[in-house]
Amino acid sequence: MAEIQTQNVPVTTFDLFAGLETTQHEQIVFCQDHATGLKAIIAVHNTVLGPGLGGTRMWYYAHEKDAVRDALRLSRGMTYKASVAGLNLGGAKAVIIGDPKTQKSEALMRKFGRFVENLNGKYITAEDVGTTTRDMEYVNMETDHVVGLPESMGGGGDPSPVTAYGVYMGIKSSAKQAYGNDSLSGKSVAVMGIGKVGMHLCEYLHKEGVKLYVADINEGALKYAADHFGATVVSNDDMLNLEVDIFAPCALGAILNDNTLPKLKCQIIAGAANNQLEDENIHGNILREKGIIYAPDFVINAGGLINVYSEYNGYVREQAMAQTENIYNTILDIYKMADVHNLNNQQAAIKHAEKRIHDMMLVHSTY
Ligand code: NAD
Repeated sequence: MAEIQTQNVPVTTFDLFAGLETTQHEQIVFCQDHATGLKAIIAVHNTVLGPGLGGTRMWYYAHEKDAVRDALRLSRGMTYKASVAGLNLGGAKAVIIGDPKTQKSEALMRKFGRFVENLNGKYITAEDVGTTTRDMEYVNMETDHVVGLPESMGGGGDPSPVTAYGVYMGIKSSAKQAYGNDSLSGKSVAVMGIGKVGMHLCEYLHKEGVKLYVADINEGALKYAADHFGATVVSNDDMLNLEVDIFAPCALGAILNDNTLPKLKCQIIAGAANNQLEDENIHGNILREKGIIYAPDFVINAGGLINVYSEYNGYVREQAMAQTENIYNTILDIYKMADVHNLNNQQAAIKHAEKRIHDMMLVHSTY
């Protein structure tokens, strides 16, 4: 990055367009409003399949370039997630730079909503880390291009139970791949992170006779899982060393890294957390070499996206659940593709996503 002076205004530049060419982004919008203190970036990655949908993250980024990077990285991930899930949606994401605890206001969120409105539906927003349903209600006062609203406002409400159902389906298809049948009865599953998704997942697994291990930093959640699902509580470190059939990361990103991979003794990794692989290629390949079946995160956790997408056609939860169930087959297709092309599962999932985008581009090539 180089510092340049433009009429006494320091402007920090970096090879933005070169970066955009590499990541193939379509459009980046920088939003600034002095009165409300809004500083936001909307990154639209790809709209071949439909409008770019992705949540708005509010985060206190130490450097502006970190915010740009996050917006680029996350929006690309949304393109792949929507494509593999078979949705007519593109990928986009917004980040608001600021501390969500102290710098958020109705005016700031509504101003942001006006920037979203200016994109005329090319970008559809939703809540994400650092933003809430209440914030989205403010955004919705300025634009209709918002999903993930409460059920009372015609939205789909909390998507976590649907996400959990998709993860459960992905665990079952991974079991089919590993053991030849998808029954989880008698299997052991370690769930790291029993928040909104992890707890619903525990419920599904418990009903199928799974021996559960849970780790979290929330004592109340641990007690609930122990009391209701007979789960054994362990520390994060102990969980990584457990001899279990399945490890389900449902808390942190980058949990699959140089430090954790040598410890794992499971046969399957399938959980809800986003960006589980610290490095898609390096760590994806290590898992493949170790013979551990990894369910690509953006495929298995697409239930939440499917849920908000359903709002567009008049929300019916049963329909969202039925479409989410298809994650079972998609995951098996990806495992097949990985074998045929000698790729790790994450790479195969990306190839699967890119293929659909490419095919649809051909469909749209004539009037
Ligand atoms: P959540 O915040 O409700 O739950 C996360 C849980 O992880 C919490 O119980 C928290 O206490 C625990 N946790 C935090 N730090 C931890 C640590 N160091 N060690 C152990 N546990 C820790 O979030 P969620 O909605 O359940 O989402 C879980 C993951 O799934 C996230 O990565 C999220 O991005 C991803 N995801 C969620 C959805 C959804 O519909 N909610 C959809 C797609 C992906």
